[in-house]
Amino acid sequence: MPVREKNTGREPCTAFPDVAGGAHTAIAYGRSAKFPLQDICRKVLDSARSNRSLHHILIISQPQAAEVAPLAEAGDLSVFSYVPEAAIAHEDLLLALSMGVTHVLWQRAVEKAERRAQVREMKIAEYLGGRDRLSFFRGASDLAKHVADLSFLPLAVAPLPEGGTLLRGTRRGTALACAAFFLGRKDQKTPLPDTAPYGRVKRDADACTSCQKCLWVCPTGALSLDPEGGLQLTESACIQCGMCRSACASEALELEPRLNLTPQSARAGPLKPRETYPCHSCGVPAAPRGMMERIMDKLRLGVQMRASPDAQALVPICETCRREALRNGTSPTAKPARLNS
Ligand code: SF4
Ligand code: SF4
Repeated sequence: MPVREKNTGREPCTAFPDVAGGAHTAIAYGRSAKFPLQDICRKVLDSARSNRSLHHILIISQPQAAEVAPLAEAGDLSVFSYVPEAAIAHEDLLLALSMGVTHVLWQRAVEKAERRAQVREMKIAEYLGGRDRLSFFRGASDLAKHVADLSFLPLAVAPLPEGGTLLRGTRRGTALACAAFFLGRKDQKTPLPDTAPYGRVKRDADACTSCQKCLWVCPTGALSLDPEGGLQLTESACIQCGMCRSACASEALELEPRLNLTPQSARAGPLKPRETYPCHSCGVPAAPRGMMERIMDKLRLGVQMRASPDAQALVPICETCRREALRNGTSPTAKPARLNS
């Protein structure tokens, strides 16, 4: 199926250069490969290549924050400071780690919205292989404490990619190449946080009316039609923007953020059927499984609300049982005890 022409910003994806003996024809979507940290990371890379027995720490400061005092090289630390002029995202953090930086210390933004974005990008970078090598700091004293802590850590020399850097034609391709390098397996499929721009879309085939609205709103061309007119997805091009789901009047689509490093992710394939979660009380399908599992996880962790056990028990049940439980003042888990009383 040829890629539709109306989409822009797509370049050949080189995240999986081993597929079909070279850069394949699947598309990648994303900003062109501009990396604000690229120049400083090249300096780190030169230093890391010449001296592998040093911690190479990259300090990313906020432009609007009070300047942090430059830290001199001390002991087995080599410290690089940088104030980026453009926003930093998970692709930049991953690239830095792949270019010899052993740990990134990133100053927290002053603005709340910016801080939220920082946390989101840091979390994605951790899932894609940067775990334990990324930290936030607030001000100069906090930074000094972090650096002192790092100086006590045994040096875990990260391997450097053979043949130079993992820079690719797009930021997305670079991030995926870094993830493949850090995670060490090219057949990885790993769940990612809800905010991650990687993943697949599942469809409830019974609810789908084949109206194709989702196809036409998809900004990356991830959705396409097979020769028989069936809906198919190229997972490597899906940025989990949710526009297809919003456009679907039948509520037939569900997003599943995940990292898929298999070569198949770059090929168009039929959408996976959306699985349903059975009602804990009567067993009929209650909701999309992925959505329900995420809600249950959040409740279990107490992240979103601290609901009583009875209130929590109302979540994994169908509308009919929920109405009945609310009308009777019972919850499904409490039923036997209340019936006995
Ligand atoms: S918009 Fe919904 S109903 Fe229409 S083709 Fe897409 S999934 Fe099916
Ligand atoms: S979430 Fe839907 S609209 Fe967005 S890129 Fe993926 S398939 Fe396309």
